[in-house]
Amino acid sequence: MIKKILIGSAVLLVAAFAWLQLVFVPGTDARMNPVADLGPYEVGEAAQKLHDTLYVADLHADSLMWRRDASKRQDRGHVDLPRLREGGVDLQVFSAVTKSPRGLNFAENAADAPDDITLVALAQLWPPRTWQSVYERAVFQAQRLARYEADPANDLVIARTAADLDQPDGTLVGLLLTEGAHPLEGDVANVRRLFDEGYRAMGLQHFFDNELGGSLHGQSGAGLTEFGVEAVREMWRLDIAVDLAHASEAVSRDVLDMPEGGPVFISHGGMRDDCVASRQRNLPDALLRRIAQRGGIVGIGYFEGAVCDITPGGIANAIVKAIDLMGVKAVALGSDYDGTVATAFDTSQLAVITHQLIEAGLSESDIRAVMGGNVRRFFEESLP
Ligand SMILES: [Zn+2]
Repeated sequence: MIKKILIGSAVLLVAAFAWLQLVFVPGTDARMNPVADLGPYEVGEAAQKLHDTLYVADLHADSLMWRRDASKRQDRGHVDLPRLREGGVDLQVFSAVTKSPRGLNFAENAADAPDDITLVALAQLWPPRTWQSVYERAVFQAQRLARYEADPANDLVIARTAADLDQPDGTLVGLLLTEGAHPLEGDVANVRRLFDEGYRAMGLQHFFDNELGGSLHGQSGAGLTEFGVEAVREMWRLDIAVDLAHASEAVSRDVLDMPEGGPVFISHGGMRDDCVASRQRNLPDALLRRIAQRGGIVGIGYFEGAVCDITPGGIANAIVKAIDLMGVKAVALGSDYDGTVATAFDTSQLAVITHQLIEAGLSESDIRAVMGGNVRRFFEESLP
């Protein structure tokens, strides 16, 4: 009898585990990273022809968080290596999400709310060292990208120096970014350790206030802490670019006021436009202009909040407005692909943006700048 119960329990456990891994985990990924079917979208012959000659770069994808084989084309989410190639992408910034408060919203999140990335780590069988440590979660995601780089079949290079940007056609460049600097775990020496893992850009906050200062979606609205100042100084000393996406207005101002004046950008965002989400999600125009004035760039996101209309035409409109506000040299793509957002197209379909930028009347040289030229220039200047 006891033997039967034991065998029965073991069978149930195995079945539950199989369901979790084969149904629940991929199903959650697919549900959290949908492509809204708002098409069909037009890509004219001239647009496709131009797109094929562009240097295309995107400033923000959270793909390393999900358990997918990125070397194969997947039918869920937004980004994998084959789809990046189909979309003509030359450089993709991969960001590492390490902590995310339950009930995520643009208005206000508590730093001590239950953390959903702990569940992501457990359910996707990340190594035990990542279960309690946000630092180890950043290390794990960098190592995930390094494993893809190690397989020559993937033809992927992680940008560690400016020279790494210079690759033959067909080679994909990945660049590592932390989404928030809480992985430092309050120790400035961890800037160097994460640099050694390959990180060349660091966000300061994500959806909650952390040791460095306030989040745009946190509770304090605080500026840079003393530790924040020290950490930013160390980032710049090591040629790590500072990402102000999700940073509070006060943090952004404090960083822009620092006399060291290192590289600053916004990996994914937009302007305060005509919807509540965009007003809560984005920095005011004056701060965006200050970022542009010192050679920084702003990646326009493809999700509601970054923009108010996520169709290709809506994103092109936001790009045109951003050019009017900051000048063409400051505007870039910052999809937030695989960041638990709904987008209207995945990365394989990026030519739809080129098409819409032509429709919007942008010149060829402006399209080249926005689609990737600006990102390349920014990292050529910021990387070691
Ligand atoms: Zn984000």
